[in-house]
Amino acid sequence: MNTIVISTDCLSEAAKLIQQGETVVFPTETVYGLGADAFNPDGVLKIFQAKNRPADNPLIVHVSSLSMIEEVSSDFNETAKTIASHFMPGPITLVLKKSDCICDAVSAGLSTVGVRFPKHPVAQELITKSGTPIAAPSANISGSVSATTFSDVYRDLNGRVAGIVQGDDCEFGIESTVLDVTGDTPVILRPGSVTLEMLQAVIPTTRLHPSLVAGTKVEKPASPGMKYTHYSPKAEVFLVTGEMNNIISHFENHLKDSECLFLFLEEYDSFSKNKMCLGTKSDLNQMAHLIFRLLKQADLDGYQTIYIPAVAEEGVGLSVMNRLKKSSGGKVLSL
Ligand code: AMP
Ligand code: MG
Repeated sequence: MNTIVISTDCLSEAAKLIQQGETVVFPTETVYGLGADAFNPDGVLKIFQAKNRPADNPLIVHVSSLSMIEEVSSDFNETAKTIASHFMPGPITLVLKKSDCICDAVSAGLSTVGVRFPKHPVAQELITKSGTPIAAPSANISGSVSATTFSDVYRDLNGRVAGIVQGDDCEFGIESTVLDVTGDTPVILRPGSVTLEMLQAVIPTTRLHPSLVAGTKVEKPASPGMKYTHYSPKAEVFLVTGEMNNIISHFENHLKDSECLFLFLEEYDSFSKNKMCLGTKSDLNQMAHLIFRLLKQADLDGYQTIYIPAVAEEGVGLSVMNRLKKSSGGKVLSL
C-alpha cells in the first residue's frame, strides 16, 4: 500500500482519508494512534489488518468534545462525567455502555466501549475535521512496542496504512489509563499517566482491577487486551532489582557488548559501558516518556539483551512497571 506522509498543517488531507474509510496514523499525547472512522466497519477492519490485531481486542474510540461521548455511549453517567470534568481532555479512557452505532468490530462484541478525548491539538483537529469519532489503537504491530515518535511509527507502519501524520514526540509516552466506570465504583483496567492516586483524589473508592495488584491470582484479565504478549522488543528484557551500587558494580564486570543497561540520570555518569538514560528517578514521568523510544532504539542498535532497573509500583511507576513486566515476560534479575 502507498502511504502518504501528511504534515500537521494539512490535516484536511488526513480527514479526507478517514472519511473514505482509510487508515491514518496520528500523534496523541500518549502514543501514536492508528485510526479509522469508528462508524465505518470496513475502515475499522483495516486497522486490525494493519496491526495484525486479534479481533477480540476492542478499540478505543477517540472524540473531540465531551458532547461527542453521548454519540458513542448510551450511558455517560454521573461518575463518568465527574472523571471527565477533571481529566478530559487527557490521557484517560473511560469504559462506558456502548450506543447502538458502535459496531461489534470496534467493541469486539462487548456491550461496552472505551472512549478517549485526547488533549493533543492535532488529534482533536483531525477528529473535528473528519466529522466522526475515530477508533484508534496504538500504532504498532500487535505485540510489539508502541510508537511514540514519527520516525518509529514510520518505520513500523509505512506501507501498511493510507496516511501518517508527521507530528512531534508524544508527551506522556505510555498508553492511556483505562477506567471502567460502568459499575458502582471506578476500576482501573490499565494503569497510565492519570494515576490511581490522582483518581482517588476525585473519587476515593477508585480501585485497581485485581489482576493489577501484585500477588493476586485472577481468572480473567482486566480487559481483553491485557491477556496478550505486549510491549516486546526483539531483544530479551530483564527487570533488575537491588541496590543501585550493586547493580552498577555487577554490570561494570559482566555487561557484554551485545547487552545494554538502562540507567537513571543520577547513576548515568558513573557507568562506563553500553547505557541509555531513563531521565531522573525523582520524576518517573520522564521514564514513561522515554521507555518505548529506548526499547526501540536498543533494537535498532542491535542489542540482544536489555537490563532495566525496577521502580516502585506507585504513581506512574505502577504504569511503567505494568508495561515492563510484559516486555520482560516477568523475568527479574535480583542483585
Ligand atoms: P490500545 O489501543 O492498543 O492501547 O489497546 C486498547 C486497550 O483498551 C486494550 O487493552 C483493550 O482491551 C482496552 N479496551 C478497549 N475497549 C475496552 C472495553 N470496552 N472494555 C475493556 N477494555 C477495553
Ligand atoms: Mg496497544
